[in-house]
Amino acid sequence: MKLHCNVEVHNRALLSMSQRKSQRSVLTIGKQSDKDDLYIFLQTLQNKKGTKYKTRNNVEKVFTRFIDDGKATIRLKEPSHDLIIQSEAIQLKSFLRVLKLGLFKVDQSSFPIISNLSLKNMGGCQNNKLVIKKDSDYPVLKGFPKMLEELSVLGLKKKSFDRQILNLQFLRVLNLSNNQITSLPKEVGCMPHLRELLISQNHLGRSQSKWKWIDQAAIKKNLHLLDISSNVISELPVQIGALDALVKLQIYQNLLKNLPQSIGRLRNLKHLEAARNCLSHLPGSMRNLQLDYLDLSSNPFLVYRRNTLYRHMHMTASLVECAAVAFLKTRIPYDAGMLPRTLVQYLDNATYCSVCANGCFNRFIMGYLEIELRRISCQTKITANATILFECYFCSNKCIRYF
Ligand SMILES: [Zn+2]
Repeated sequence: MKLHCNVEVHNRALLSMSQRKSQRSVLTIGKQSDKDDLYIFLQTLQNKKGTKYKTRNNVEKVFTRFIDDGKATIRLKEPSHDLIIQSEAIQLKSFLRVLKLGLFKVDQSSFPIISNLSLKNMGGCQNNKLVIKKDSDYPVLKGFPKMLEELSVLGLKKKSFDRQILNLQFLRVLNLSNNQITSLPKEVGCMPHLRELLISQNHLGRSQSKWKWIDQAAIKKNLHLLDISSNVISELPVQIGALDALVKLQIYQNLLKNLPQSIGRLRNLKHLEAARNCLSHLPGSMRNLQLDYLDLSSNPFLVYRRNTLYRHMHMTASLVECAAVAFLKTRIPYDAGMLPRTLVQYLDNATYCSVCANGCFNRFIMGYLEIELRRISCQTKITANATILFECYFCSNKCIRYF
């Protein structure tokens, strides 16, 4: 029984600093000779000879609490290693079933002899990238390799998202540039390892309401790169500000008139390309960003309401508003799974103070003000002589004084 998987070997005898990263591996259960006990044989591309682990009286425990997510850990006594395994759930279950059968000495004749195994038998282990540029290369019948980590489907005029992709549990990079896709399914946001999503030159803007994928826990936590440039998008969803891991955002060549205030919450963002849109001003929350590169060229920035302040401070704050402001301060991620949908919508509609970054709802002061771009980004590209105003919100008079 062979299992293609990712394995992290954790040596319990060493401190946590010595932990290794998860590596693409093949695990085999086999014998060393005709008579010997069973071993677990771990092969990786870096360790071509492989490592053998005795199983008889040596498997201390098998942790299977998250087996349905394709995760399990085999704890060995000697050496004191934990094999932390991630794989396709059904295959992992059968692998552990075979291990259990082997441990109880049921018909060992069918197990392979380990000396016969070599790296060339690792099969799909190296096959973790796939680039498709021709319809004839598309694996319509046989499907994508299960262990795929990088998939590019480029320029095929695909009109819809292929749901087969959702089964690729190890996918890190998905590039669907230059197709005709109008929407992504919600489940894209649940893919557990997706770090880079490139969908430039598609038609996402034709289905403004279908941004549910951006509002899922996995994508909020993991996505580093999002490229949705050239997609006729006229409005970005406020939930984009919840992509906590985002480092690079490419939204150039769309029809954006403004950017959501929530963009100022992208604390890891370093690279923002928003050229060739219809931006008339920028959100004041961007004052909180610390970018390496910002491209704002070819936008029709307006300057006509410069330095006028609009005060909405007359009414007393409601209890809901006080609670929401306090909740947003905690930065606890929220979604419709933990809060009533009306409350989620209320929180999503918050604007953020340009000074202290606290949420504002019904009580705020607003104005179009200038902010030095070098304060936001090390390198900025703008059309010559352009003056850019920021739509700034302030939670109090005190915060205006600090601006
Ligand atoms: Zn404030």
